[in-house]
Amino acid sequence: MTDVPTTKLSRIESAAATGPLSGEQEELLEKARAVVEEKIGPLLWESERNEYFPEEIVPIFAEAGLFGGTIPAEFGGLGWDLITHMLVIEQVSKNSQVLGSYLAVPSGPVGAGLFKYGSQEQKERWLRPLADGTSLAGYGLTEPRSGTDAANMITRAERSDDGWVLNGAKMWIDWAEMGDFFLIFARTDPDSKGAKGITSFVVERGTEGFSTHPQKGKLGLRSLSVGELRFENALLPDENRVGEVGKGFRVAMGALEDTRLQIAARVCGGLAGCLEETAQYATGRELFGKTLAGFQLTQSKVADMILALEAARSLTYQAARAKAAGEEATKAIIAAKLFAQESYMRTSHDAVQILGGRGIIDETLVNRHYRDAKITELTGGSNEILRLLLSESVLGRQR
Ligand SMILES: Cc1cc2nc3c(=O)[nH]c(=O)nc-3n(C[C@H](O)[C@H](O)[C@H](O)COP(=O)(O)OP(=O)(O)OC[C@H]3O[C@@H](n4cnc5c(N)ncnc54)[C@H](O)[C@@H]3O)c2cc1C
Repeated sequence: MTDVPTTKLSRIESAAATGPLSGEQEELLEKARAVVEEKIGPLLWESERNEYFPEEIVPIFAEAGLFGGTIPAEFGGLGWDLITHMLVIEQVSKNSQVLGSYLAVPSGPVGAGLFKYGSQEQKERWLRPLADGTSLAGYGLTEPRSGTDAANMITRAERSDDGWVLNGAKMWIDWAEMGDFFLIFARTDPDSKGAKGITSFVVERGTEGFSTHPQKGKLGLRSLSVGELRFENALLPDENRVGEVGKGFRVAMGALEDTRLQIAARVCGGLAGCLEETAQYATGRELFGKTLAGFQLTQSKVADMILALEAARSLTYQAARAKAAGEEATKAIIAAKLFAQESYMRTSHDAVQILGGRGIIDETLVNRHYRDAKITELTGGSNEILRLLLSESVLGRQR
């Protein structure tokens, strides 16, 4: 589309939420911006349309020193502090939520789960290659019959002489097609209900009785590989068990909290991406004898977009600072993610409106953000479940 200005992915957000950045953080953000703008961004137009993850991205991020997140160097990561990690995720997500999702892998749900609950041997075997980018992994909680109500899972692991026999299925699992292994959750006590009696395991690709099946046709996050995991008498040795028997739901939820914060950072990037492309278009597009930016109805929408971005960043980085300081941050993280994802839906909707016909074509970033925003309202905690959890912090558990 020739008359749509190129998106530069520069910094449109103020420093109010994070405070002044260090020289090292500034350098990393500039590197992330340049790598996405020059090398990775161009690959995504086709992969978004044809639903595949461009694997060329993997060495580009690794060589730029951007992959490894908060996992300490002794386990193959970069050992970044949480805020730096989130800033980089935010920067790349101005282009696409899938890029933020990929950079979040080392300390995402699988990495965080292994780091917090894995044994030393398990960290060496699975966390190290995950953190240094030589392997990829998915987190398998959701099942065909249980999504929001994840504790209602029916996938079953039974003890055998050789370890555990796994039967069941997981669906909507990130990196299903590409993952080398999966951190999954299964009921090990057949008489248990809800969050009790669940245990977590690593299942490696190639395990007999284990297969993966892509789920295509997604509205958004189209470059992300998502699919189903099926277990048919899959045999797992006991050394693949992560954490204690019956305590797997704690592993699942502990890892999810880190992920929610990363998603909030990703969404802040999406909000900034929308604002930037909107500003470029509105100042360049002429109609009724002046620029689109010259109309007060446009200015009002842009003001709302700025408010959404700044407020989402304030909540997100405030929650991150609390988490980094070791303070109780669950409620703050839920509030940040909820506010950010709902703002993302409204902002991307307004952005598409301002870009008019261009906004509905998948050659603009606002189009990508609009589609990604809808999915973000469902994953890692839907709007509804986050509202319930937030209200419970005051009203107590009502379910
Ligand atoms: C692209 C994508 C990637 C994903 N990646 C992963 C992954 O890597 N790993 C993984 O384990 N899962 C993953 N998921 C699953 C995701 O977390 C679930 O889709 C989500 O939990 C919702 O579950 P569900 O789709 O079964 O909807 P349901 O649980 O059936 O919910 C349907 C609707 O009801 C709403 N609802 C729930 N409770 C209430 C209530 N009390 N009152 C009113 N409304 C309510 C929900 O918010 C939702 O809008 C992914 C999903 C998608 C779409």
